[in-house]
Amino acid sequence: MSVTTKMVTQMLNDDNLQQQTKLEDYLAVAVEARPVSMLLVPADFPDAEGIKGRIDHGFRARYYHGRSHEGITAFLDTIRYGAMRAFMNPLKYKASLLREAFEDNVFSHSNYKSHRRWAKRLGLETYETQVRPSLDEMYLASDPGKIGEIAAFQQRREEIRREVVQQRRQQGDMQFVLLPEEQSSEYLSGLGNLLGYPQCCIDAYIDDVEGGIDSALRASNQLSELKDSQQEGENAPVEAYFASTFFPCTPACEQARTTGRQIASRLAEVDERLQDHANRAFRANMDFVRKYPQIRRQRREQVMSKYLGGMGDDRGISPDGG
Ligand SMILES: [Zn+2]
Repeated sequence: MSVTTKMVTQMLNDDNLQQQTKLEDYLAVAVEARPVSMLLVPADFPDAEGIKGRIDHGFRARYYHGRSHEGITAFLDTIRYGAMRAFMNPLKYKASLLREAFEDNVFSHSNYKSHRRWAKRLGLETYETQVRPSLDEMYLASDPGKIGEIAAFQQRREEIRREVVQQRRQQGDMQFVLLPEEQSSEYLSGLGNLLGYPQCCIDAYIDDVEGGIDSALRASNQLSELKDSQQEGENAPVEAYFASTFFPCTPACEQARTTGRQIASRLAEVDERLQDHANRAFRANMDFVRKYPQIRRQRREQVMSKYLGGMGDDRGISPDGG
């Protein structure tokens, strides 16, 4: 599938995709500079916050008021949800209401439709899988054979998930973990390989996990140790930050920088404007890593004020079923 100048122009002007998504997830895979990419639905969408709010609202309408529609059909909803509540395990019931609210608000959204449409136009194969009731992963690949590999990997992921939970139980650790597979080196190296990450960087990430270290914080500290002159301008190692979910083992990692340079030069061969766009996307990734401690602190404060401010508002559970 060839990527035409017209398609690039239309894509760059499409507000339904984040700029980084266009470059690192769609175009980099379409020009075969990356084997596979993965984005989070709806977390990586431009309207993620709006969509999350509507999912939350849809969930609460179902859970607290027993309906998802207004008017005459609301009566039918109360019967259906009443039956579900009576016969289902309470956690499964909540999860299925949340999934309904997710499907209602995501699949018809212009952001979602646009992501699907662009995969088709660029000749990319997709594989979408549910990780939580309100979160999907969407994988993109240009080689159809990769989709089989991704599907097999997802099956193995389920097994790994169970193995990790069992292991933790045997060690007496009963704490609930959202994504237990992310503690497994087999899972992390499988995912890293699929996404085209260098082996040295995958190994560094696994070392972090095994040592209980936050990789994003480690990566941020490595950047702050660079001199100012190395962080700005021409000499900054921006190309090592070729994907927003990727942390190089060091900012100077030659393998990561080569991957980033290859992506930028393949994109430039297709359309010379893309060289500049790619560099800007890499720079944004690098800036995000550098500012990570600050962003994390702000998020914590937001979560705390939401919690303290919401003490009187007994919502029972969080929308993610936690
Ligand atoms: Zn590396």
